[in-house]
Amino acid sequence: MTMNRFMNKGMYIAGQWIRGDEPTLTVTNPATGEVIGWVPMATDQHVVDAISAASDAFAPWSSLAAAERSRYLHEIANVIERRLDELALIVTREQGKPLAEARGEVQYGADFWRWYAEEARRVYGEIVPAAPGKRIEVIYQPTGVTAAITPWNFPSSMISRKVAPALAAGNTVVLKPAEQTPLSAVVLCEIFEEVGLPAGVVNLVTGDPVQIGGVIMADKRVRHVTFTGSTEVGLLLARQASEQLKRVSLELGGHAPFIVFDDADMDKAIAGILASKLRNMGQACIAANRLLVQESVADAFHRRLAEALSELTLGNGEDAGVQVGPIIDEANFRKIAEQVDEARKRGARLVVGGKPWDGANNGYFYMPTLVTEVGTDTRLFREETFGPVLASTVFSTEDQAVAIANDCSYGLAAYLYTRDMSRSFRVAEALEFGVIGLNDALPMAAQAPFGGRKLSGIGREGGHWGIEEFLEAKYLSISLN
Ligand code: NAP
Repeated sequence: MTMNRFMNKGMYIAGQWIRGDEPTLTVTNPATGEVIGWVPMATDQHVVDAISAASDAFAPWSSLAAAERSRYLHEIANVIERRLDELALIVTREQGKPLAEARGEVQYGADFWRWYAEEARRVYGEIVPAAPGKRIEVIYQPTGVTAAITPWNFPSSMISRKVAPALAAGNTVVLKPAEQTPLSAVVLCEIFEEVGLPAGVVNLVTGDPVQIGGVIMADKRVRHVTFTGSTEVGLLLARQASEQLKRVSLELGGHAPFIVFDDADMDKAIAGILASKLRNMGQACIAANRLLVQESVADAFHRRLAEALSELTLGNGEDAGVQVGPIIDEANFRKIAEQVDEARKRGARLVVGGKPWDGANNGYFYMPTLVTEVGTDTRLFREETFGPVLASTVFSTEDQAVAIANDCSYGLAAYLYTRDMSRSFRVAEALEFGVIGLNDALPMAAQAPFGGRKLSGIGREGGHWGIEEFLEAKYLSISLN
């Protein structure tokens, strides 16, 4: 597929493609360094225009019958599924993940359009028992104009996970995707146009995040900011949002422990840790970051894991058979290398990997890596790694495993592998995380509440919880006398 049409397709504001003037943001393929497109840098006026368009579109969109909004959302899901291969290729080219994973990501996004097409029709009100002569009625209404700010690691599905429930609830959106990966946002807006979504319901702006964020945060018409990205930026947005008490939904960083008990099904645990850690080259908020293995099985487990890691095929995600693609950019690549080097200096043992891949061709590739005997005070054990690196430590008792896992400022996902049913529930309930993978490395589904505790965020995406983020309760107190 040629990417020529992405050469400055533009921003999508009030139903128009706006090219803007130079300068533009260049989009490169992280596997090859090749330029695959560019998008404009929004001016302040572009961002204001996008907010105005969303604000103007709000009344007609929110007053459509829910069934009518549902129809648009179903149609978006239909087109995404019909164009799945094309959208997946765009994800692989701008973000790097292997094509099979990119297809999975795009389908995961379509699942949200489908789910919220249904959920749009189920925003029920409530009648609450009241004093004699009075009635209490509660209705749910859309919050208003929503700003959605999304990251590069899942450039397609993170947009769908926010925009689908926002639209289902009756809100309108200003979308700002990550600067490394804006092309998936461009093609989704093409789809919105293709299905005839009314102008202004979704608007796309690209460019300088600080500038765009500043205009969004200063504008009183934006009532809700839904953000997925780093904890650092999430905290900044929460502080800025507090000035006008804008609602915030924050899906932030993670630092998942992956606990393997001695009674676990070892084949399943090995397959699980590989899926959890290598998916998207470890650049996932729910990727296993800290491996905790019970000491009686640790040596055998590490041996098998090292073998499996050394057999993986690295390369351009477009090539058949490639399992591990590139790291998104140099800054992230350096951070991974620094964390590994620091852990080794502090006594950790490198078992496999621990260096750049020598087959790289202008891309940033890091070998799948296992480091054992990692101290719990190292950066590997304290910071999100976002790369194909497993840092392992051993534990002896269940209580110790839970204590190490919870000794963390993040609280997004945690995994445990065991065949003991009582322990499964005991440990799952004791872990201070929002998502638990119990003998399951891929805890993601459109119908489930995804989100974190502590510095991993506020709010949930998915299921009925996801649409509630975009609704306000209104209480009608009625006197019958
Ligand atoms: P990031 O640097 O925080 O960027 C996320 C988005 O925020 C991008 O669109 C970015 O724009 C924008 N941004 C940056 N500074 C901003 C500012 N001052 N004001 C307004 N917007 C600003 O995160 P990332 O590196 O793209 O993504 C990786 C992070 O996302 C990881 O920490 C990961 O764990 C987290 N994540 C969490 C979840 C979850 O569901 N919890 C899911 C996926 C990813 P630019 O790209 O233009 O800088």
